[in-house]
Formats: sequence, C-alpha cells, structure tokens
Amino acid sequence: MGDFTLELNDDQTAVRDWIHGFAADVMRPAAAEWDDREETPWPVIQEAAKIGLYSLDFYAQQYFDPTGLGIPLTMEELFWGDAGIGLSIVGTALAAVGVLANGTEEQIGTWIPQMYGDVNDVKLASFCSSEPDAGSDVSAMRTRAVYDQAKDEWVLNGTKTWATNGGIANVHVVVAVVDPELGARGHASFVIPPNTPGLSQGQKFKKHGIRASHTAEVVLEDVRIPGSCLLGGKEKLDDRLARSRERAKAGRGSVKNAAMATFEASRPAVGAQAVGIARAAYEVALDYAKTRVQFGRPIIDNQGIAFQLADMRTQIDAARLLVWRASWMASAGKPFTSAEGSMSKLYAGETAKKVTAQAMQILGGNGFTREYPVERMHRDSAIYSIFEGTAEIQRLVIARTISGLPIR
Ligand SMILES: Cc1cc2nc3c(=O)[nH]c(=O)nc-3n(C[C@H](O)[C@H](O)[C@H](O)COP(=O)(O)OP(=O)(O)OC[C@H]3O[C@@H](n4cnc5c(N)ncnc54)[C@H](O)[C@@H]3O)c2cc1C
Repeated sequence: MGDFTLELNDDQTAVRDWIHGFAADVMRPAAAEWDDREETPWPVIQEAAKIGLYSLDFYAQQYFDPTGLGIPLTMEELFWGDAGIGLSIVGTALAAVGVLANGTEEQIGTWIPQMYGDVNDVKLASFCSSEPDAGSDVSAMRTRAVYDQAKDEWVLNGTKTWATNGGIANVHVVVAVVDPELGARGHASFVIPPNTPGLSQGQKFKKHGIRASHTAEVVLEDVRIPGSCLLGGKEKLDDRLARSRERAKAGRGSVKNAAMATFEASRPAVGAQAVGIARAAYEVALDYAKTRVQFGRPIIDNQGIAFQLADMRTQIDAARLLVWRASWMASAGKPFTSAEGSMSKLYAGETAKKVTAQAMQILGGNGFTREYPVERMHRDSAIYSIFEGTAEIQRLVIARTISGLPIR
C-alpha cells in the first residue's frame, strides 16, 4: 500500500528527545526567573549554543528535513520548555528566514553565521517589519530606503516597532519602502550589518507574556549600508519593481512582497510554538486533575473536568496535524492553495489560548499563582493571536484564498 505515515523516523525521534531533555532540564527550571526579570536569558542561549541547539547548522539541518517536520518538532519541544526563552532562542531564526527567503547564496553565507555568533560569543538577529502605523497593514509602511548610486549605498530612515531582539541584535533585517507608489509591492528587505551607525534601540516594551524575549523599537537615522546589503540584489529588485509597475498599470494582482514571503514561510513554525505551550499546560492540568482530591475523589473523576481535558487533548492534536500538514506542504514545494499555513497558525494560536485558560481553571487557586507555571503559559499564549499576523488577519487570508474574493 501507499507510503503515507505520521510516524516519526529514528532521526526525528532522537532530535525531538534531545531537545526535550534541554527543555526539561535547562529551560523549565529557568523559566520563572527570566519571566520575572524581563530580560534576554543570555546564559540559557549560551547553554543551547554549547550543545549545538543554537546554531546555523542545527536549524539548517531541521529546515532541510525532507518531511518538513524538523522545524515544527524543534519548535514544539522548545516552547514546551518555555515560550519566552524559546522565543529568545528562535527569534534569530525569523531574521534568518528573511535572508533565506529573499537573499542570494552569498548573502545567506555571509549574514546567517553572524546572526548566531559562536559558542563563546553568542549573537542574536532581529527581523524588523512592523511600524507604529503599519502593523497588520503592511502597505502603510513608511521606513524609506533610497539608493545612492554614486556610492552604491542604500540610505535608510524610519522607525520600526515590536522588533523581537531589536537593538540588541548583531544583525537586523529591515523591510523598507523603495517605491512608495507601489504600496506593499514597493518594499525590499535589507541587512543592517553589526555596529552600523544610525541604528539605535528605541523604547523597550514591558509585556504581558513572553517576557524573557526582548521586544523594542528600532530607530534608523541616515543608516548607510553597502549596495550588497539589499537582499536578492539590485537586478532582481529592479526586475520585480518593473513587473509590479506593469501589473499595477494593467490593474492586476501583486508580485509577492518581501515581508509577506517571510511570514508565509514561518507561519506553521509559529503554530508549532503554540502547540508546545498548549501541550505543556495540558500536561500540568492532567497531572493535577489526577492527584487533586476534592469531595473524596480526584477532580478528574468529575466529567466536567475529564471532558475539558479530553477536549484540550483533541484540540492540541488537531492543531499539531494542521501544523504538520502545512510544514510538509511547504517543504514539498506545494503552494498553500487554501491558506494552509494561515490555518495552522490560526488554529494552533487559538488552541493555546483556550487550553492554557482551561488549565488555569483546572488548577483552581493554584492556577492563579506564580507557584505553578500555567498562569505564565496563559500569558505567553496570548501573543499567538497577535504576532506574525493577528487571528483576524489569518481569517482574512483564509477567506480570500478560499473564495478568491477581495474580502475586507
Ligand atoms: C511581542 C511581540 C513581538 C513581535 N515581534 C515582531 C518582530 O520580530 N518583527 C516584526 O516586524 N513585528 C513583530 N511584532 C509585531 C506584530 O506582528 C504586530 O503587532 C501585528 O502584526 C499586529 O499589528 P498591530 O499591533 O499594529 O495591530 P493592528 O494592525 O493595529 O491591529 C489591531 C486590531 O485590529 C485588527 N485588524 C486590523 N486590520 C483588520 C482587518 N482588516 N480586519 C479585521 N481586523 C483587523 C487586528 O486583528 C487587531 O485585533 C511583534 C509584536 C509583539 C507584540
């Protein structure tokens, strides 16, 4: 019969178990402290680097797993460990994907290693697309990149916001407007090399969840970068802009823009993070429900509790299957004809919010305290219907894709 299987192969099982060990032994014990401190957990990132879990090689290996499951398996285990620390570890990957999706081989080889640094000197990277007036509406972006032909340099000005690792990263990937008349089609991605004058950190945000992950504004004032820092190169950009202008004139649809290419590729991975958080909270709630005795019996003896746990588990497994499907499609080069990437991120994100809230309820008063991890997991889960496209925007993408209509 056919080849279809959902069974992980030996390599995948070994990698998953290895990450799980790190998540359980290193991340979980550190989670509450870094959540409290609201700082990047550099020592934990370094521990990850020491064992090869924070490195270009590791992520490249997972990225090129032919089944597509390498990245979702990695994300689920790390975020099962802790979402704030997990995001600090994988925040670099979003910028790396920005380079992988839009960059030349040479750019990939030059910049991605500098995003990770080495074991003795770990570095971070940041992907900067959002702006104060351009969140969901990427076409409202104002950060401008102007080409100085005489010097073969680009000059960037503007303010980015909500940048994970923004201002503390070694390498920033910035999306900017190169042709304002083309809206979202007139954008391009640039690498800002380490220590480039004119780039500075603005406000650092104090957040509701994922507090071990640094989120800040990035201010760009006359930032000059070599022409070679335009991802994909000038020729490709000019060609794309020319096609977009022709399409705009003819009233036809868009050529894919730089930021959207990054988001599409990373959506199932973000869904997998949400699955990890949901599974973590569910496991705590299941254990608790089996041991907490009220009215002379474990609380799981009540259908009201047992059925909640049954629903939680069912939804987590369904979310994982959506994530795996989208990840497999992406790696097999199959287009998301029904917005399968958005579906996976939408459902996994909403499942994480729901399941972590139910877990808190099952733990009663303890669920409301910081003695138990579920309140942190609940706070962490809330970001999953906001970043990388809000839940509403995912629904918009799905609705437009399945209908072919310009639904607003
Ligand atoms: C912790 C954190 C980390 C982040 N990391 C990064 C990062 O590393 N890099 C980066 O570039 N960005 C990052 N972001 C930004 C994130 O992607 C944006 O916050 C998100 O895209 C939403 O934009 P906004 O906050 O401006 O909300 P808005 O776009 O203003 O949306 C406000 C509300 O209106 C709804 N809405 C908007 N338009 C529509 C519509 N057409 N139909 C229905 N509802 C609509 C939204 O769904 C939302 O509920 C991060 C954000 C946070 C909070």
